[in-house]
Amino acid sequence: MIQADLHVHTTYSSDSAINPRTLVEQLVTHNFIKVAAVTDHDTVKGCGVTRQLASAYPDILVIPGVEISTPQGDIIILGSDEMPPQPWTVENIIDFARERDYVSVVAHPYREYGMGDLAKNYKVDAIEVLNGGSSPSANKAAQDLAKLMGLPGTAGSDAHQPSELCTVYTEVKASMNTEDILKAIKKGLVSISPTGKSIHF
Ligand SMILES: [Zn+2]
Repeated sequence: MIQADLHVHTTYSSDSAINPRTLVEQLVTHNFIKVAAVTDHDTVKGCGVTRQLASAYPDILVIPGVEISTPQGDIIILGSDEMPPQPWTVENIIDFARERDYVSVVAHPYREYGMGDLAKNYKVDAIEVLNGGSSPSANKAAQDLAKLMGLPGTAGSDAHQPSELCTVYTEVKASMNTEDILKAIKKGLVSISPTGKSIHF
């Protein structure tokens, strides 16, 4: 069983102030969240740098990922250390993820840049049902959507500031291994929780 913050932005996102080293230090010092997915906006550079730094610490894991901006809304690819080919349509991104055993996740569906009900039209792998930057009602609507679609729900802080890291987490029935974690998410072996750290809106 592992606990993971599955949505984090580093300074490789233009709107984030979280240095890759700060994220690594957070995982090293956190008493139970030892896994995070780096999901920068439209780039995988930050996850590469963060994974490199994290490799010095055997008890933490940084999952590669990216949050792609599409005209329909943001979609996260967990597991990817490469960019999907253009054009970034939702269908292309989902196909790209499926072909490579990555996990496609609809990010914060009921917030700005979220897909909303459009998500129902796509064969995504999971829905982000607890986002640290979404209101309780938006998260509730996302949980209802996941239930309706019969999909697993993930949690991620969507941190853009160091203080926002690890406000929520996903518990995954898997070992500390990216492939294992991705498989378990697809199987729905996940549950979500807030950490009690204050969530910013
Ligand atoms: Zn984000």
